[in-house]
Amino acid sequence: MKPHWHITAAFMLSAAIASADAQPPLKIASLHPVLTGIARETGGGLVSITGVLPPGVDPHVFEPSAIDLRAIVNADLILAAGLGRESYLDRRAGRAGASGRILSAGDMLPDALLLRAGGGGHRHDGHRHDEHEHDAHAHAPPPTRARAAAATNANARAAANDTGADSDTATAAASAAGADSDTGAAIPHSATRDPHSADPHWWQSVDCVSFIAGRIGGELALLRPESADVFARNTRACQRRLAALKAWAAAEIARIPPARRHLVTSHDAFGYLARDYGFEIHPLSGLSTDGEPDARRLAALIRLIRGKNIPAVFAENNASPRVIANLVSETGARTGGTLYADGPGPADSGAATYEAMYRHNIRTLVEALAPE
Ligand SMILES: [Zn+2]
Repeated sequence: MKPHWHITAAFMLSAAIASADAQPPLKIASLHPVLTGIARETGGGLVSITGVLPPGVDPHVFEPSAIDLRAIVNADLILAAGLGRESYLDRRAGRAGASGRILSAGDMLPDALLLRAGGGGHRHDGHRHDEHEHDAHAHAPPPTRARAAAATNANARAAANDTGADSDTATAAASAAGADSDTGAAIPHSATRDPHSADPHWWQSVDCVSFIAGRIGGELALLRPESADVFARNTRACQRRLAALKAWAAAEIARIPPARRHLVTSHDAFGYLARDYGFEIHPLSGLSTDGEPDARRLAALIRLIRGKNIPAVFAENNASPRVIANLVSETGARTGGTLYADGPGPADSGAATYEAMYRHNIRTLVEALAPE
């Protein structure tokens, strides 16, 4: 009987491989370049990805074209940044007939990883505590946010470890996502959180990206269970690479003394990075790039930079350099370089992938803020 069993198993195995091979790749429409990169890594050759939001384009003001909408409508899986970023999904994609599952990345983050807008403790940048400072709305002038790294890092690690990262089987990766599998609903999606209450720039935390990679790997396994092993293996490799990236970044940032960890930028995009590495952030404008910084905020920042002797301020790839140049001329701080706030840059930028973007940002910070 045994030889017979072998023949049958071998036949079934080859049949399974043949049918897996025969399947067309899963169609993914990605609405953020960080998600495009993760999907490419976790899906490998078994997915075909349309990056609807190209790298280097400002996601705060992005609207999909008719061609983009077609890719969204035809997708088996739609990857959204979430936290209120893709309002066009509700407005346009549902009406256009999209029926694929939506994975809304930011909305899946556990509380230990999610950063509440305006959260993070005391504000002590020298200007008065007017009512507007307590408004967490995206267009309100932002507060200075205090360090919160020590308190949250342990939670963040615990949550990141709870993603099926080290699970030995594909089933574990799938079941890690399975708990929330019903949230991958057809359009229109329903965010369970108020998008204005959370900071949407989750890609500035490697732990968040690693968690989301686990969810994407799990979602792919649910959509194509016969390839679950491949997705789980790819996901683990992706998460190992991200863990190495975080370790490298922490070692680099250690070269900046805590008292010098001040991050003056154009808009409020680096809260997650500040949380992970103990920075205080002093953005000129709010969580979106479409607000104009107000004069009072500018004056307060000038006082702060002078008072704390902050050596450098940072431009952003999608923001006008004018206001930062203003700060430089008023304070004697220098321009520390350009940071990628809202995702990777275009192909020739040297920051075209998530890892390259993150390394560029960390190197720029260290070069500008570490003592000679
Ligand atoms: Zn932003």
